[in-house]
Amino acid sequence: MTTYDDRLAAFSGRVLVERRPAPDPVNVPMIRQWVEAMGDANPRYLGEQPVAPASMMQAWTMRGYAPTDASAGAFEELVALLEEGGYTSVVATDSELDFHREVVPGDHLSVEEVVESISAEKRTGLGAGRFVSTLKTYRDSADEVVATQRWRTLRFRPAEPAPEAVLRPRPAINLDNEFWFTAAREERLVVQRCADCKALRHPPGPCCPDCTSFAWDTVEASGRGTLYSYVVAHHPRHPAFDYPLLIAVVELDEGTRLITNLTGATADELTVGMALEVEWLRADADLTLPVFRPVRPREH
Ligand SMILES: [Zn+2]
Repeated sequence: MTTYDDRLAAFSGRVLVERRPAPDPVNVPMIRQWVEAMGDANPRYLGEQPVAPASMMQAWTMRGYAPTDASAGAFEELVALLEEGGYTSVVATDSELDFHREVVPGDHLSVEEVVESISAEKRTGLGAGRFVSTLKTYRDSADEVVATQRWRTLRFRPAEPAPEAVLRPRPAINLDNEFWFTAAREERLVVQRCADCKALRHPPGPCCPDCTSFAWDTVEASGRGTLYSYVVAHHPRHPAFDYPLLIAVVELDEGTRLITNLTGATADELTVGMALEVEWLRADADLTLPVFRPVRPREH
């Protein structure tokens, strides 16, 4: 039986890209554009006997932007086999060039690429993949080797991005309600109180709805209350919450009500009027909120 690894291994030594002539012979105008673009002022390149920069080797034999041969060769076959294994992404990892002689105007180069090896699957920071090592051989028109290039790419299965921590939606904090969230961060449940008529109110606001006074202070709540009403939310889902999500109106023993989440119970365990007590939810570094759970039986 031929395994996937056998099929990949069968590529070792195969010609990946048939010998392909450079579209143009080595020439001074291309050398000039290259050294200008690279900012390389070495006088040898454009002197009386010009020499092509060694780093131009690949440039002479590159295919143009428009594909000139539609041959579905070994290269396409290998790419398809790698994709079959899930290795759909590619990144070049390294290239080693060996120069046998200098290249000069008039040389007509060609390149052939042969597979050297395909590694076993490796774990990499990009994902699991295989290193494909090939050797490109550059020859002149007399078949003399002018350079070789070992070329390694990693064909990999893109790693799933790590799920980002999704934070609870931020409460809309303003000057009127900031005290309440500050107290919550200290795990204190407070209720706003009118400084004149002493009426308690929640949610926080600037003005007493009973006597219209703007003077206020707070009292610390006991953290005990009863279930006034609730809903069980299934949709729409926000990634910061667990579902089904129990959303309740809790009537505090002090008399005000607040909207909160319930914990420590499932929906079918809830009864309107049941006794609840506060528990602190440290949602994230910046947000601590009161949630309520059924009062636990007293320990004796
Ligand atoms: Zn008042």
